[in-house]
Amino acid sequence: MIIAVASGKGGTGKTTVSASLVSVWKRPVLAVDMDVEEPNLHLFLKPESVSTEMAQLAVPLLDKERCTLCGACAELCQFKAISLLGKNLILFPDMCHGCGGCLRVCSEGALRKGQRELGVVETGITAVGIPCMTGRLRIGEAMSPPLMGKVRQRMRAIMGKEFRDVIIDAPPGVSCPAMTSVQDADVILLVTEPTPFGLHDLRLAWQAFRPFGKPMGVVINRAGLGDEKIQAFCSEKELPLLAEIPFRRDIAEHYAHGGVLACLDAGMRTLFENLAERVERLERMALMEVSHA
Ligand code: SF4
Ligand code: SF4
Repeated sequence: MIIAVASGKGGTGKTTVSASLVSVWKRPVLAVDMDVEEPNLHLFLKPESVSTEMAQLAVPLLDKERCTLCGACAELCQFKAISLLGKNLILFPDMCHGCGGCLRVCSEGALRKGQRELGVVETGITAVGIPCMTGRLRIGEAMSPPLMGKVRQRMRAIMGKEFRDVIIDAPPGVSCPAMTSVQDADVILLVTEPTPFGLHDLRLAWQAFRPFGKPMGVVINRAGLGDEKIQAFCSEKELPLLAEIPFRRDIAEHYAHGGVLACLDAGMRTLFENLAERVERLERMALMEVSHA
């Protein structure tokens, strides 16, 4: 099972929930930080023996001597990464998605494969033996989905061999990176907070992820801080409310020291164990619905 922990906005406690869920998960689990622009799951899980693999994307390089300026490559590229301007063919490698179409369409052999560095994929293991994978985008790199694609490839390779379960800390928001990170998920957990901003962004996330048709559940962080509008929204949309993390000073202090919330005390551990069970139940119910359909 793959669980994506997402949120419509940053700062709701998504990574806190991911780290705690990882720490109470009953079966071997792989923790994946897909928030490649600002990865911080490792700050909670503290993996050791981290190995780093460079991630690159194949982008075209031009041999001007061979180019006849026919424009076929520019016409094909959906991402406007190649433009024919008068008698100049201009390549924009930062906009290239590495599909390789331009190389195939060039009958003159004027394009060959180059590489653009996307960032790195780091893999380590925590003190209690939980493997963690982190994508880290190169500073200045404009697009995160290609690096996320490399993380997903690596995740699938490890999953096939050793793991059935993966917990993904997804990027916040509802733009392309967030959508990419929930694609593989069996269950999407939406972490929010009881404020007008939390409700607004929860609504956006629900609207954005609903077309995937995956089971979704909600976790309220800092419960008790605001009003009950999140609960009302969940009930109106039939979104299961899976856990409420109370708004408490000791929780904030534990978080401020980089502590995993599930390790704070017995009550917190039970809260996250119950959350893990509810997530599994959500997936089982979704599978049963599919088999009865
Ligand atoms: S398809 Fe090849 S020959 Fe035609 S413009 Fe592109 S690089 Fe030049
Ligand atoms: S590899 Fe694909 S995305 Fe990149 S320039 Fe060629 S056609 Fe465009």
